[in-house]
Amino acid sequence: MPEADAVRARATVTRLALASLTTLKVGGEAEVWTCEADADVRDATRADFRVLGGGSNLLVGDGGVPERVVRLGRAYADARALDAAGDAWLGAAVPLPGLVRRARQLGLSGLEGVLGIPAQLGGAVVMNAGTRFGEIGDALQEVDLMLDGRVERVPAADLGLDYRRSELPPGTVVLRAHLRLTPSTPERVARAEEAVDAARRGQPKARSAGCAFKNPPGDAAGRLIDAAGLKGLRVGGAMIAHEHANFVVNLGDATAADVAMLLERVRAEVGVPLEVEWRRWGLPGGEAAARGWDHGRPAARPSTDEG
Ligand SMILES: Cc1cc2nc3c(=O)[nH]c(=O)nc-3n(C[C@H](O)[C@H](O)[C@H](O)COP(=O)(O)OP(=O)(O)OC[C@H]3O[C@@H](n4cnc5c(N)ncnc54)[C@H](O)[C@@H]3O)c2cc1C
Repeated sequence: MPEADAVRARATVTRLALASLTTLKVGGEAEVWTCEADADVRDATRADFRVLGGGSNLLVGDGGVPERVVRLGRAYADARALDAAGDAWLGAAVPLPGLVRRARQLGLSGLEGVLGIPAQLGGAVVMNAGTRFGEIGDALQEVDLMLDGRVERVPAADLGLDYRRSELPPGTVVLRAHLRLTPSTPERVARAEEAVDAARRGQPKARSAGCAFKNPPGDAAGRLIDAAGLKGLRVGGAMIAHEHANFVVNLGDATAADVAMLLERVRAEVGVPLEVEWRRWGLPGGEAAARGWDHGRPAARPSTDEG
């Protein structure tokens, strides 16, 4: 059997509504390739593709995504390699919340700052997810990347990690990450997490994709949006949260077009340039298209950074 056919027999290919795979719960359909081995990823990335992690930083257009959407499956989601020594290679689909919990139980310090972030490890690396208490880059040593069909090991220092961003080349899939945590005690780790948890208490519980805008230098996007009196502003089923002005929540029936229009209204009314933190995929359709929604790079090897 040719290699591609053999590999395709392992990857699961399904047409799915991306609304079901993102935390904001909007977005149309795509062909989703779920990969259980590096060879599957190699095969899936032979055509134009995007990579989906936990879907917690994405706004997907109502018209769906024309490219393949590549996901890492259960084989990449096992956190058990992390033991009390705190030095481990982990698959990029490991959910961050479970990893943070495991680190605390093992008495390992270094992930307290990412408490409460609903990402997968790979998506956390790509976005350098974190809070003012710490970010994933603090614990990251190196990664295995799939790039142009080859697996490459790259030190964290070469990933261009910065505030909520990295400089991975387009078309890169993070397969695994090497983390190094510091032995401590469960009690000390839990105490360090309390401050992070307290800072999160004011955040909305409704469906969202986290903070919509990056903080501009020297200020907070949420403060600016609040000061402009925009809490509670609604377009269709999308609303600026009452609890935290930098969160857009889906009241239940929001479309991507609603969300995109709401973002544009906020940007127009705040008066300070605000950069959207989310990655935006696909075809918006409807009114948002007429208003010039920026739907990211065209399809040539677009996976990671169209934000
Ligand atoms: C309630 C809530 C709270 C949040 N709080 C925070 C916070 O405090 N701090 C913070 O930084 N973020 C926060 N976020 C945003 C989000 O969780 C992060 O940006 C996170 O890093 C996204 O990871 P993900 O796995 O969900 O990636 P996705 O949203 O699936 O994808 C994001 C980008 O990463 C790429 N990507 C994902 N996985 C891979 C991979 N394996 N290889 C290559 N590219 C990949 C995608 O192509 C896309 O470009 C929050 C989100 C929510 C919903």
